[in-house]
Amino acid sequence: MLKKVLIANRGEIALRVLRACREMGIATVAVHSEADRDSLHVKLADESVCIGPAPSPQSYLHIPAIIAAAEVTGADGIHPGYGFLAENANFAEQVENSGFIFIGPKADTIRLMGDKVSAKHAMIAAGVPCVPGSDGALPDNPDEILKIADKVGFPVIIKASGGGGGRGMRVVEKKEDLLKAVEMTKAEAQAAFGNPMVYMERFLQKPRHIEIQVLADEHGNAIYLGERDCSMQRRHQKIIEEAPAPFITPEERRKIGESCTEACKRIGYRGAGTFEFLYEDGEFFFIEMNTRVQVEHPVTELITGVDIVQEQLRVAAGLPLQYTQDDIVLEGHAFECRINAEDPYNFIPSPGLIESCHLPGGLGVRVDSHIYQGYKIPPNYDSLIGKICTLGKDRAQAAAKMRVALAELAITGIKTNTPLHRDLFQDAEFLEGGVSIHYLEHWMQERKEKLAK
Ligand code: ADP
Repeated sequence: MLKKVLIANRGEIALRVLRACREMGIATVAVHSEADRDSLHVKLADESVCIGPAPSPQSYLHIPAIIAAAEVTGADGIHPGYGFLAENANFAEQVENSGFIFIGPKADTIRLMGDKVSAKHAMIAAGVPCVPGSDGALPDNPDEILKIADKVGFPVIIKASGGGGGRGMRVVEKKEDLLKAVEMTKAEAQAAFGNPMVYMERFLQKPRHIEIQVLADEHGNAIYLGERDCSMQRRHQKIIEEAPAPFITPEERRKIGESCTEACKRIGYRGAGTFEFLYEDGEFFFIEMNTRVQVEHPVTELITGVDIVQEQLRVAAGLPLQYTQDDIVLEGHAFECRINAEDPYNFIPSPGLIESCHLPGGLGVRVDSHIYQGYKIPPNYDSLIGKICTLGKDRAQAAAKMRVALAELAITGIKTNTPLHRDLFQDAEFLEGGVSIHYLEHWMQERKEKLAK
């Protein structure tokens, strides 16, 4: 087993990884920027190393500083968390070339799945259903682009091959707007991701976002841990997630799950990963794979009892998975609310001092958060300050527990999006289940109009 793990991240996920290591008797090294000296993961780690100033390019994204910290502290593995360097193939490669274990897939797998065009090709070859669209990157020739769009059918969405985090996408409703939209997306993709390649997909009108969690080891085993529904999104960013996805039948789950584990075996996948799909009219369409642990992994842990981070650590050490597919039984229903330090109406970030903080608890309530009274949220990073999860015997009970948990949650000194979550857990349509990815945006538009009156 690994003896000492360096956690190349911050915030709640650094804490999450730290806890998994602790339970397994693995020592921990926290790395942090100058802005994060007072962070909980730094206080709780066995050792900590300051790797640079607040801006992430000079700290959490600075590969030489992180590898030097691993060398100085004698760590044997590096866990990247999510975000920052988690899906950076060069980082994975440099970690392994420096003699450390990268707790994630092989660099080549990250590269293959990190580029959306090559990922889609690999999935088509593996028999995973994809959104209908261009066969790979769009050509330069305008006539050919128009021809492809006619075949795909309007509306279409132009997506950057190197895109991520909900950026680098543009919906085109009609033919006249197509060529300009392609040019603009290309230019943006070049500026944001250093790669101008774009591709085209049919823009689905009312899909749900449903994703399959997988685990795979280096002994040829791959299992799926059911699915999550992450349709509650604002600007393509998830806000509420749940598992299982409402109204998905065991047969649908088995079919798509098996197609994902087959794909894992084909591409030699290692560790935890997520296949993201859009689901419409009973059909799954692959959109991308995340080759890392995801923010919303706790809802899956709650209904399966599997500690996903501990499995990542075991697989990285070369051990086989502790579970076979038959061991995976889904029990109950779980929700997750992402708590962000932001205005609940205009979503402007709200960093600063947490004057007081009461976090909820009780049976079936899980809180993953790095905040505490007196903690000052730095303005330099994303606004996620914690996740509230609930587990109930069914969806209604999980929602009831979430209402109680959200009512108890009390943070002063900064603004949070808690009021938004409270409202959503009173909303009849959301509570019925199965809303599409556009539901939250429409709901917010209606709220805005009501408030304006
Ligand atoms: P990212 O890597 O930036 O998260 P994804 O490809 O995962 O990009 O897409 C993010 C979100 O964008 C999806 O969850 C969905 O809401 C929307 N989206 C992406 N592709 C399509 C499509 N073909 N039709 C409709 N919505 C889409």
